[in-house]
Amino acid sequence: MRACFLSARCGRKEGTDTMKIAFYSTKPYDRVWFEPMGKDYGFDIHFIEMPCNEDTVFLAKGYDAICIFVNDYVNAGMIDKLYEMKVKAILLRSAGFNHVDVKAAEDKITILRVPSYSPEAVAEFAMAMLLTVNRYTHKAYTRTRDFNMNINGFMGKDMFHKVAGVIGTGKIGQAMIRIFNGFSMHVIAYDPYPNHTLDVEYVSLDELLRQSDFISLHCPLTQQTQHLIDRDAIEKMKEGVYLVNTSRGALIDTEAVIDGLISRKIGGLGLDVYEEEEGVFYEDCSNEIMTDENLARLTTFPNVLITSHMGFFTREAMQAIAQVTMENAYALENGLPLVNQVGKCME
Ligand code: NAD
Repeated sequence: MRACFLSARCGRKEGTDTMKIAFYSTKPYDRVWFEPMGKDYGFDIHFIEMPCNEDTVFLAKGYDAICIFVNDYVNAGMIDKLYEMKVKAILLRSAGFNHVDVKAAEDKITILRVPSYSPEAVAEFAMAMLLTVNRYTHKAYTRTRDFNMNINGFMGKDMFHKVAGVIGTGKIGQAMIRIFNGFSMHVIAYDPYPNHTLDVEYVSLDELLRQSDFISLHCPLTQQTQHLIDRDAIEKMKEGVYLVNTSRGALIDTEAVIDGLISRKIGGLGLDVYEEEEGVFYEDCSNEIMTDENLARLTTFPNVLITSHMGFFTREAMQAIAQVTMENAYALENGLPLVNQVGKCME
């Protein structure tokens, strides 16, 4: 590690080592938050626009840490390369860590994440998506801009007193429950680790699928939750159910959900995440030929809204992500307790 100068705000002493960080998948809005904060902490951050993958991992040579986002990945082979290059840490700008081989990193590279930044940001966005697909505001916007004031086809459903099902009652799920309660809905939830202090009725997953008019997914992507919403699950749902996924794309079997939309079992779908989003989401592909037929098909449904993994994207969340990421790096560099470390036992 190299020597650095005093940072007034973080209180680092002059002459102590500073961390060199290779910052992958940089977007303009990342620089807005990380550039000044990195300077405050005295870190040497090198911003790289490219994603972190097998082809770009070599760019980490000479750095102490890499900083990555949700559509970057680090597999076991890349862990070995990073280890050989003496990279000591992977700083995740996210809560989820399914994109890093945590087991392979054990005893080699420290992984630090941002476990919580603004659960409300994601939950509020999930509600915005449900309201949009239910009331067709996305279609009404374009129609009225053409002075087509016809409202045919835009009839929605009251949410008042309907059943809202929340799958996963962690930080974001709890924020979602508060929002659904604010709409005077009957809220039910499923979580293998129920939190009985919450104002919600826990039911089995099957029961939730059977009873809910609106379903929102808030569990992490793990081996157990991959394709949690598959053909069987959709079969159990109510006719015309509304579904929103702001968690991870692979919670949903995309082909099963397309068939559910075609059969009209699913009345509306909001996807902020998509199982094949890597390399597409966050990029401008508007001038390219779309080769992902499932994504192309999804965009043809009037009752489907797709957004580009932006549930987190508020000022408050960005500030918190930058702050906690820098605090994580600072703790690592200074031998402080690593409260946000990702360990093998968390997989
Ligand atoms: P959290 O860890 O606080 O809560 C996750 C909850 O899911 C826990 O209560 C856990 O017990 C539960 N769970 C685990 N396995 C389950 C299963 N099989 N079925 C149902 N529940 C299960 O996480 P969080 O902060 O609430 O975030 C939830 C997810 O949201 C993250 O894993 C991440 O994938 C996603 N996320 C998305 C965005 C975005 O911008 N769209 C931003 C942040 C997080």
